[in-house]
Amino acid sequence: MTLFEKIIAREIPAQIVYEDDLSIAIRDINPQAPVHVLVIPKKPIARVGEAQPEDQALLGHLLLTAAKVAKQEGLENGFRITINQGVDGGETVPHMHVHVLGGHSLSWPPG
Ligand code: 5GP
Repeated sequence: MTLFEKIIAREIPAQIVYEDDLSIAIRDINPQAPVHVLVIPKKPIARVGEAQPEDQALLGHLLLTAAKVAKQEGLENGFRITINQGVDGGETVPHMHVHVLGGHSLSWPPG
C-alpha cells in the first residue's frame, strides 16, 4: 500500500480539503508555498508516465479538481499545478498526484 493509499484509507492522518469518488485533496506536510495541496487519485497509478489510455478521464478529473481546490483555497491571483516524475522530476511518493501551489508570487522557471 502506498503512503497515499494509507491516507485515503484513514490509516494515516492528513488534512483533507476535498474528496470525491475518484480523488482526495490533502495539505502537503511540507508546504512549499502558503497554499500547497496534493490532489491524489484513489486509483494508485505510480506516476503519470504509467497512466493508461483508460485513465484519460481520471487525469482530466484531477486537473478539474485541482482548479476547483485552487478556487476553494482563494487563489484568485493565480496558482501553479505541478506533477513530478522520476528522480530528475523530484518524485518522492510513487502514487501520482497533482501539486497545487499558490498564495504568493511563484518564480519561473523553477530550479
Ligand atoms: P512528490 O515529491 O512525489 O512530487 O510529492 C510528494 C509530496 O508528498 C511532497 O511534497 C511531500 O512533502 C508530501 N508528503 C510526504 N509525506 C507526506 C505525508 O505523510 N502527509 C502529507 N500530507 N504529505 C506528505
